[in-house]
Order: sequence, then structure tokens, then C-alpha cells
Amino acid sequence: MSNPSLTNSTILVVEDEEDIRQLVTYTLRKDGYQVTGVSSGEDALAAVASSPPDLVLLDLLLPGIDGLSVCDWLRRRKETSHLPIIMLTAKGEEDDIVKGLNAGANDYITKPFSRNVLLARVRAALRNASLGRDKTPQEGDTETLSIHNLVIHLGRHEVTVDNEPVELSATEFRILSILATKPGWVFTREQILDDLHGDRYAITERAVDVHIAALRRRLGTAGQYINTVRGVGYRLKE
Ligand code: CA
Repeated sequence: MSNPSLTNSTILVVEDEEDIRQLVTYTLRKDGYQVTGVSSGEDALAAVASSPPDLVLLDLLLPGIDGLSVCDWLRRRKETSHLPIIMLTAKGEEDDIVKGLNAGANDYITKPFSRNVLLARVRAALRNASLGRDKTPQEGDTETLSIHNLVIHLGRHEVTVDNEPVELSATEFRILSILATKPGWVFTREQILDDLHGDRYAITERAVDVHIAALRRRLGTAGQYINTVRGVGYRLKE
């Protein structure tokens, strides 16, 4: 994160399958990144401790210390608590994806993935980190978020669609604000709930679905931009 010019960024690739590790490393290097590849959780922790990268691509199923534990460890240390982490997961591992996102990973890529998907996700994660957008909105925030025909005034708790004001409940507004802080990124129900509980709204994971459904209805034509990511959570379409 020390380097805002994205293509010189350093990336740590943690993957025990050699073919995939080499392919990912090669692809990223060709795009100009400085890449280190390791094959275990132990080596990942050692590499981060000796020289923290700008981003980590992390396989979840590793021998020894697994990806979830690595993720958890990185989030607990002050020096790496904001380090962008993209998980590498296999198809059908929705439970692991949810666990990883809840453990603090920023995003995930499902294997097998194309070169374009890999580079796009890496760029987005580095861009988000350099913009410091990895934060939840605060009370009194004067920031305005614009996505498609949707404008969110964080401090004023106002939302417009095509310049027309939309009436939202406090909880619906909060959920929309959470999703809008990182367009294109997936938030699990638990992450959304955690944020709401910070405001002492006592609701369940199922209730998140109900609020999302209501939010979509109230947003009218902008409702289509709230995507359900099956088995994982929700995201605001970029
Ligand atoms: Ca693996």
C-alpha cells in the first residue's frame, strides 16, 4: 500500500498447486507487478513478516497453516490489517468464500479463472486500497457516492435515483451505504449484520435478505444494481 502507482506494486501469491502458482506469477509479472510466489501458509507469513507486499493472492486450501488462518493472522496484525487480500477458491466452495470474507479477505476469484479476470480483480483491489475506500461510512460524513443513476449523501442520509429523492428506512440506508463503499465487491450477510449491530439494530441474517428486497423495491430502476451473489452475499454492481 506504500506504492500508489499500481503497476509497480508488490504481490505475494500463496498457492500450493505449482501449475497455478506459476501461471498466476507469470501473468502478473508480465503486467508489470513485482511478484513473489510461495507454496505454504508458513512461507506466506514469513514472506509478509520480512517484506509486506501491497496485495496478497491467497489460496484457501493449503497444507499446514491454511488460507483462512493466514487471512486471520494478517488482519490481526496492525501492520497488515488493511493489506488487500484476494482469495483463490475452487468452484462450489461457497462456505469457504463466506468464511474467508468474514475473516477479512477483500475479494475472491474462483478457479479456474481467465487472465483478464485475474488482472481486473488485482487492479480493483489495489485501486481501492490506494484510495483508502476500505472503510465504512461514518456519521457526519460529507462524502457523496455516485453509482449509475444513484447518488448517496452519507452524512445527510439522503438518496436520489435519477435526481429524485428516495425514502429509505435507517437500516436500508445503512445497508446501501455499506455496499456502496466498495462497488463490485461482495459483502456477506454477516459482514452487513456486524455493521448494523454497531448501530444497535438487532436483526438476523435472514432479515438482511428482507431489507435487501425492500431496498431494491424502493430504489426502483436502481434496484437492479444490487446483485445477489448466490450462497455468499450481496454486492452493488460496479
Ligand atoms: Ca490448494
